[in-house]
Amino acid sequence: MRFIDSHCHVHFNAYKEDMDEVIQRTLEQGTFMITVGTQRDTSRAGLEVAQRYQGMWASVGLHPNHTVEQTFWDNDELPPEQQMTLQIKTRCESFDMEYYRKLVQHPKCVALGETGLDYYRIPEGVDRQIVIQMQEQTVRAHFDLATEANLPVIIHYRDAYVQQAKLIGEYLAAGKLTRRGVIHCFTGTIQEAQSFLEQGFFISFSGILTFSKELQKVAKALPLQKLLVETDSPYLTPVPDRGVRNEPWRVKYVAQKLADLHGISLEQVAGQTFENTKQVFGLEI
Ligand SMILES: [Zn+2]
Ligand SMILES: [Zn+2]
Repeated sequence: MRFIDSHCHVHFNAYKEDMDEVIQRTLEQGTFMITVGTQRDTSRAGLEVAQRYQGMWASVGLHPNHTVEQTFWDNDELPPEQQMTLQIKTRCESFDMEYYRKLVQHPKCVALGETGLDYYRIPEGVDRQIVIQMQEQTVRAHFDLATEANLPVIIHYRDAYVQQAKLIGEYLAAGKLTRRGVIHCFTGTIQEAQSFLEQGFFISFSGILTFSKELQKVAKALPLQKLLVETDSPYLTPVPDRGVRNEPWRVKYVAQKLADLHGISLEQVAGQTFENTKQVFGLEI
């Protein structure tokens, strides 16, 4: 059986001691992976790691939470060679089109993102409207480059369904974003999911599916032909391993839950989600 973890961050600082071991044990279990960039540095680093492994690809992008100065630093996030101390504050970044335009030329780059509108994690004490504008500008830049480079996008949205769907709709109406992409770590409603499917996007479920009854209802109602599975490692560890650092091979637990919900075998879910992921990202396997 083969799986693809369609969204992980296995090149982040959380794996600084054992990244290569984690990647190897994931590949040994027949699980391929797409490791996702969230800033300049992690975008470049992801490509460098992916280059060293068959069965591994990367995306490049600027996560919406990095477009604003944060009062905390997620120390798990930086690539292993860039250990930072907790004293260092986040710089906020803006999307450097020329920098990312170079990165997308890399043969292992299969998508732009993660990008999107996240109205949930806007810190206190900042002007919400300015942050929201900044996020929108950043998403537009990703969409423009995805269109230019003919790549799909990985969308991360939270508490911003209406605005996110509208922005995608605007690009599609203009004949852009022809490769579409995936709504990652989906946690919305059935109606939201269906509207993204109508726009030609795929929906990806993370380990949240293994413990959220609400989300299980949503996943059950959606066609398997449009679904992907992911871990979002090092975050969102699925049942039965909650509480430990996540690793990409655990994507099988997400697939098993999907199989239970749809009343089919794990083999069928593995096969279908593998094909779906190949299709979205144009993977040559
Ligand atoms: Zn995300
Ligand atoms: Zn992520």
